[in-house]
Amino acid sequence: MVQNGRPVRVNAGQCIGCRACASVCPAGLITLSDTDHQRIVWFAATCAEDCERCAMACPTGAISLGEPAPGVSAEGTRLEFRLQPCRACGCPVATVEMLARLRSVIPTAIQLDRENNAWLDLCPSCRQQMEARRIAQEGLVSRRPR
Ligand code: SF4
Ligand code: SF4
Repeated sequence: MVQNGRPVRVNAGQCIGCRACASVCPAGLITLSDTDHQRIVWFAATCAEDCERCAMACPTGAISLGEPAPGVSAEGTRLEFRLQPCRACGCPVATVEMLARLRSVIPTAIQLDRENNAWLDLCPSCRQQMEARRIAQEGLVSRRPR
C-alpha cells in the first residue's frame, strides 16, 4: 500500500505499550486492542496531520514523525505486549513493560503501602478495596473504648 505524509516511526525496543499516544491521537492513526492477557498496538505507517501529539505524549521517546515522504510504501507497525494480571483478582493491570518502567522510576518506598505491601501489581479496583478495608479497620480500632 502506498501512502503520503510523514512516516510514523516506532522503536519497538522502547515502546512499553502504555497507549498514551493512542489516547491523544486526534486522527485515530494509533489504535489498540486488549484481551485478557495481551495488548496489541497498531501504528499507521504515515501521518498527514499537522500534529506531534503522540511524540509529545510518549513517556519513553519511542515514537517520532519523520520527514514528509510522498509515496511511502509501508504497512504500519504492530506491537504485541503481555498484560500482567492483578495479583489479587487476576484482571489485567498493565503491560509487563509498563510495570517494569514504573518500578524503575518510582522510588522504592513509594511502591509500598503503609503495611509494606507492593501495590503496583494490583488493579485499581483491588487497590481501592484494600485501602477501604484498611481505613475501616483503622476507624474501628480508633473507636474502641479504652
Ligand atoms: S502526529 Fe498526531 S495525528 Fe499523527 S499519529 Fe501522531 S498523534 Fe496521531
Ligand atoms: S506512548 Fe510511546 S511507549 Fe506508549 S504506546 Fe505509544 S509509542 Fe509506545
